[in-house]
Amino acid sequence: MRPRKTTARPTVGFIGLGTMGTPMALNLLQAGFPLVVWNRTTSKTGPLKAARATVAASPSAVAAASDITITMLAQPHDVEEVVLAARGVLAGLQPGSVLVDMSTVSPATSRKLAAAVLTKQGEFLDAPVVGSKGPATAGTLVILVGGLSQTLDRCRPVLSAMGKTIVHAGGFGTGSSLKLATNLMLAHLAIGFAEALLLVQRAGIGPTKYLDVLQASTFHSPWYQTKGAGMIQRDFSPHFALKHMRKDLRLMGQLAADVRIALPVTEAIEQMFAQAESAGLSEQDYSAILGYLEGVQG
Ligand code: NAP
Repeated sequence: MRPRKTTARPTVGFIGLGTMGTPMALNLLQAGFPLVVWNRTTSKTGPLKAARATVAASPSAVAAASDITITMLAQPHDVEEVVLAARGVLAGLQPGSVLVDMSTVSPATSRKLAAAVLTKQGEFLDAPVVGSKGPATAGTLVILVGGLSQTLDRCRPVLSAMGKTIVHAGGFGTGSSLKLATNLMLAHLAIGFAEALLLVQRAGIGPTKYLDVLQASTFHSPWYQTKGAGMIQRDFSPHFALKHMRKDLRLMGQLAADVRIALPVTEAIEQMFAQAESAGLSEQDYSAILGYLEGVQG
């Protein structure tokens, strides 16, 4: 078993340098962790290389060089591919080292990854995040963790470089379940705000006045000031892509089926996001659901 370092900072591996992964990885470097990175599209490693990260040739090479390997990828099948493929994380994972998957995936995927990592005498955490590009850059993400508390204790300094709040949800997969329940509220909020905006505008009321009323209410939220104000401006530049929100809605449906409950409103929202994807809005921000609804209304 790999001897655990007691004084030196652990070497961290980071796989997946997208909208979220790049600022998160930069914060790890900023905090002084030696960092090894890999991304499928090699050109996106540029900012990390410039900040003195080491660029590895494959996910297995990242894992072989790291005490703690982090994945921040798009879909559950992408994470499974990057972890389980021939040159994947598992092929390089050293006994005693940790895989932390921070992507939003199903709890079933998290448990499958945990089982695979345990066969290599490794440790696993599912640790998806709440917060978008802004909090990822500021290092103020909320991190929802599933796994053993001793593994979390070991990884806490690394996670603290990326997030301000760390919640231990329970065993493997519970971080992923908690994340899906959180994004359920976000999807409902976005679609509710979009419908309300259409309503007040057609009723001849200025959207900013409506925003002021929401902010004066007991259910005020910083979300209205950031995302809501952006929606009023029709600024749909991607922070959290609509295709990822649709993916999360699909995963919520799978989880609901697994635990045998019906989520009829969430199902209807998923259909709307599916139609928005078909209308070509996948790469825009999820708030572009407003643009989709406007198009439908004519
Ligand atoms: P993103 O910008 O689309 O980046 C996705 C990353 O995954 C890219 O590095 C991409 O590589 C990589 N990737 C995708 N498929 C792959 C595959 N088959 N093999 C290898 N690499 C692959 O996504 P993001 O916004 O950073 O989100 C990442 C995860 O965090 C998602 O699960 C998302 O739901 C979740 N999340 C996002 C936000 C947000 O606000 N954006 C907030 C919380 C959670 P390439 O560069 O080669 O395409």
